[in-house]
Amino acid sequence: MKRELIRELCRTLRLGTRISEVYQDIEAETREEFLIKLLTDTVEKRAADRKNRHIRQAKFDLMKSLDNFDFSAVTLPDSLGKEELLACHFVKHKQNLILYGRPGTGKTHLAIALGIEACKHDYKVMYYKTARLVNDLALARKEKTDGVFWKKLGRADLLILDEWGYIPFERMGTQLLFEAVSDCYEKRSVIITTNLPFDEWNTIFYDQKLTAAILDRLVHHAVLLLHDGPSYRLKHSSMQ
Ligand code: ADP
Ligand code: MG
Repeated sequence: MKRELIRELCRTLRLGTRISEVYQDIEAETREEFLIKLLTDTVEKRAADRKNRHIRQAKFDLMKSLDNFDFSAVTLPDSLGKEELLACHFVKHKQNLILYGRPGTGKTHLAIALGIEACKHDYKVMYYKTARLVNDLALARKEKTDGVFWKKLGRADLLILDEWGYIPFERMGTQLLFEAVSDCYEKRSVIITTNLPFDEWNTIFYDQKLTAAILDRLVHHAVLLLHDGPSYRLKHSSMQ
């Protein structure tokens, strides 16, 4: 009965249902201690919910963790320490990461794991395979519904474009990608994973001038991570 009343009061104050669920289990000597424990639990629950919401809204293809990632296969530049990378300082400083290397060298794994880490640091993340973003966006533009995407991008802290340069883009695709990258420039971070060397970027884009403009914006505040180990897929293949 009292529990119901507490539940109702919390609802009126928009405090959620958590308090009415846990308050009876809290052990405390004083009122202050009780209140502190209750409020701390509420704050922690909210933070956990927010983190999970960020991860859900990022729409990762799969879940990958930093825990089982072998960093010996990645060369970081001197300017970037591993601790700093894992603490997501690059998002705070609106820096871009370019993860470059052959297929199977852990680019997607690291990009997603860092994306999840960013969610845990309370950042909003958007994950796309580049080709899918371009296709979805081109379709949305035709139907004049792309406003939703730009609004979401406007609120994001990190855009992950996986598999950059696997498929060539038409004029419209290049234009849209340019707009997306421009929209991020100095406002939010971008992580790109690619196996395409910079001097071959114009082979996948329709327009040389736009390619130069995209490259310019991406690279200005970017850090290059070299995935120069052997293919993890081949090394750990069950056919070996
Ligand atoms: P890429 O995107 O570079 O083609 P992936 O990230 O898809 O490669 O990696 C292929 C597979 O190998 C995935 O299952 C991934 O989890 C695993 N893998 C690759 N590199 C590593 C690594 N350094 N540590 C742990 N697992 C790895
Ligand atoms: Mg990949």
